[in-house]
Amino acid sequence: MRTLSNLDFLELWERGAVLHPLDRALLAISMAAPGEDYGTLAAWPLGRRNVALNQLHRACFGQMLTGWVACPECSERLEFSLDAEKLYGDVQEIAGEIVIDGRRFRPLTSRDLAGVVNESNEQAAALKLMRQCCLDSGEFDGSTFSLEEIDAISEQLAQADPLAETLLELQCAECGHCWNEPLDMAAWLWTEVEARARRLLLDVHTLAATYGWSEAEILSLSEQRRGLYMEMVRA
Ligand SMILES: [Zn+2]
Repeated sequence: MRTLSNLDFLELWERGAVLHPLDRALLAISMAAPGEDYGTLAAWPLGRRNVALNQLHRACFGQMLTGWVACPECSERLEFSLDAEKLYGDVQEIAGEIVIDGRRFRPLTSRDLAGVVNESNEQAAALKLMRQCCLDSGEFDGSTFSLEEIDAISEQLAQADPLAETLLELQCAECGHCWNEPLDMAAWLWTEVEARARRLLLDVHTLAATYGWSEAEILSLSEQRRGLYMEMVRA
């Protein structure tokens, strides 16, 4: 996983802005790991994708995930800072195949999730995901499954790929409410990419207007040089 250059950030932001978040995540990984073909990345288990997104985040923005979330009870703003290595550092073995009630399943992938983005009924989406992940698909219908059975299979699929979803245990300092907040690594990375792209374009605008340099010239400056020129312009 290589770090991204200034030009990469702008390209990622420009191309990713019109894509679904699932595709943005794969685009980011494909730019940082050029040897991987897009179709292969789409078939990665979600845990593997999340570890790759986290590695990319660490390479480009550092180890800490700093942000805030609103308490669902009292709306108090709760700020937090997390060590990403502790969350995603232990790369866990993801089973290629899980047997549940005699049927073989594989872990969920980005492509599976893409297949249900337009499905508004939660139960129907869960069933469709199971059909997609069932390796004995010819025998699997699932239409007679109860809600409990669907939940039980979903739970076992989640356990087989623990980093597919990371839940943060949070407690509100104001009202004491405790809850689990899903950590969406793809959304997190994208927020940082957007912020970086905006800052780069602002620097280009300011330095081009001041010195008459081209966009390419400004983007090729090191962070230190560009930062110092920006300080001098603002002084
Ligand atoms: Zn609260």
